[in-house]
Amino acid sequence: MKNWNGKKKAVTFSYDDGIESDRKLADMFNRYGLKCTFNLNSGLMTPESCWERNGVMIRRMYPDDMPEIYKGHEIAVHGVMHEDLTKLTDEEVIRELLDDKAALEKLFGCSIEGMAYAWGAYDDRVVRLVRECGFRYSRTCNDRHDLKFPEELLTYGASCHHNYENIFPLIDEFLAYDEDGPAVLCIWGHSYELESDHNWDHMEEICRRISGHPDVFYGTNKEVYLGAD
Ligand SMILES: [Zn+2]
Repeated sequence: MKNWNGKKKAVTFSYDDGIESDRKLADMFNRYGLKCTFNLNSGLMTPESCWERNGVMIRRMYPDDMPEIYKGHEIAVHGVMHEDLTKLTDEEVIRELLDDKAALEKLFGCSIEGMAYAWGAYDDRVVRLVRECGFRYSRTCNDRHDLKFPEELLTYGASCHHNYENIFPLIDEFLAYDEDGPAVLCIWGHSYELESDHNWDHMEEICRRISGHPDVFYGTNKEVYLGAD
């Protein structure tokens, strides 16, 4: 059983890519006392790394403000250049992951043990390399749509994306959960989706419903999956 300050229910968020709109998202998490893991690409920290989605320009951020923006949350690896690891050689996979880890640890002054697969892409070879690189947990895009604690942390799925159509029933199920085993609610996504789907109010409602419950542990991915000791 994980050490979640004696609680058996835990909430965590996982958001990727280091997008300009993370400023707004991190601020929202802070207002509601929620903790997130931000999975970042150290080789793409510039607004010139941009694209258009639903007519909205999506821009990554310069690293300068990041330590302040992400303060209180966890930083994790997402690959230097957001590469599909299954398409790289072993040596390239190792560089894509360990160079990102080194750059992020220097920028944020932290030690990193977790990651999320760029594009959600992995296979058995990649997972072996991820383990050999020393990572202890890595998020896929295979959403569980349940509240179970994952059996395999190097290929774990979040509970759901913030756009999951049954997210509010799942949140209700989580809040009502009163059984013996641990229950995890992990929500993932990208802040640029909120910006270009124009559904920040949906995210605010998620945060509002989840926050402030005394029987719930609010932690980063690391604290939730490895324990908060
Ligand atoms: Zn990504």
